[in-house]
Amino acid sequence: MMHNFSWWRLGWTLLAYGLVLGGVGLLLGAPLLVLLLGALGLVLWHYWQLHLLSRWLWDGRQFTPPRGSGAWQHAFDGIYFLQRKNLKRRKELGRLLKRFREGTEALPDAVVVMNEEREIVWCNKLATNILGIRWPEDNGQRVDNLLRRPEFISYIKREQYQEPLIIPSPVQSMASIELRVIPYTANETLLVARDVTRLQQLEQMRRDFVANVSHELRTPLTVLRGYLEMIGEDPRLEQGPWGKPHKMMTDQVSRMYSLVEQLLALSRLEAKSEVDNLKVVPVPALMTKLEADSQALNSHKQHQIRFHVDELSMRGDGEQMMSAFSNLVANAIHYTPAGGQIDVRWQALPDGRARFSVTDTGDGIAPEHVLRITERFYRVDKARSRNTGGSGLGLSIVKHVLSRHRSRLDIESTLGKGSTFSFVIPKDLVVRNKSVINE
Ligand code: ADP
Repeated sequence: MMHNFSWWRLGWTLLAYGLVLGGVGLLLGAPLLVLLLGALGLVLWHYWQLHLLSRWLWDGRQFTPPRGSGAWQHAFDGIYFLQRKNLKRRKELGRLLKRFREGTEALPDAVVVMNEEREIVWCNKLATNILGIRWPEDNGQRVDNLLRRPEFISYIKREQYQEPLIIPSPVQSMASIELRVIPYTANETLLVARDVTRLQQLEQMRRDFVANVSHELRTPLTVLRGYLEMIGEDPRLEQGPWGKPHKMMTDQVSRMYSLVEQLLALSRLEAKSEVDNLKVVPVPALMTKLEADSQALNSHKQHQIRFHVDELSMRGDGEQMMSAFSNLVANAIHYTPAGGQIDVRWQALPDGRARFSVTDTGDGIAPEHVLRITERFYRVDKARSRNTGGSGLGLSIVKHVLSRHRSRLDIESTLGKGSTFSFVIPKDLVVRNKSVINE
């Protein structure tokens, strides 16, 4: 039964108690003694109620409170009410947790919940099949103590989880798993893993196919190119009827040859995961070479090309980085109408990273194409691109090179005004010290 606490009622009860005691005291001729005894009785009664409460809270097995009296009944009822509310909430939370666990058990992926120390807080059953984590035996174990692949350890230490990580399965040989880390509360993280063996096999088949076809095409093309060059050395050819067809054949064979070369370059890039041999790439020296090459490429267009280069190098694969730099500059030259302005920048950022950018005053790219131009063979204007000798593989190569150096191509473009292609090299790959540059 619920009692409402009332100061009035309490006041009146005390007053009545005092009056009765006073009356009895007067009758007996010792009012002070009776009042004192009455107050002592009141204190003892309160202690008794306190004892009842404490016994109920700590020792009793009963859920309902003992029968108290006066204001104490109100306190007992209040505690009982709170307990019932908590119980209801606990049941609701329990149901929610059960539903969440059942949901994660039904997922086709392994799910591991980790705390900020990367210790396992919970995992579903698939975590055993896919990751070899046993539950509840591995409860509280650090994930990087159980999954000891170096790639995984450096991935989790870097704490950059935009891209998933693919590693060989720790449970099954020849299988691959894809790992994603998803922070979901301030101090808990989800590790989601799935089996991607089939996908990886298909991807490998596609890569092998492209690499093999490109390789097989290169030999006949080299032979054709060689003979065409030999025939071209004959001075009578220009005047004869075969002069024009010979030039066309030479141009087309060169295009095919460079296409095959680019496909092979892409295959080589795809075959490696991250750049492992992180040598120092002397970027300022590469920029000097790039400036000379771009002036040669610029002879028809007569753009104004300006280089702004900071004394700053990076670690990585020099050949790959040069191909990324030169692809971006060559595109700016090709896709900017004659007499344009091109700015190439290699600059230190205040936070220790370095940024490469190429800004042109060219045609620009419509937003619907921007998302797709790094796809293989994707060209905005096929005919135009073909005229420039473009294959649609250049930006694809750039994208791969950058992902090998933990960077990403950023494209800002306004149709008719121009574009900026840029990327940022992470701090740990940037080299500022001159003595290191001379390594
Ligand atoms: P391509 O060999 O055809 O140049 P890329 O992969 O280098 O292939 O580029 C893909 C497409 O992106 C190009 O066909 C072109 O339409 C567009 N593109 C690339 N760079 C620029 C740029 N600086 N300005 C405008 N369009 C560009």
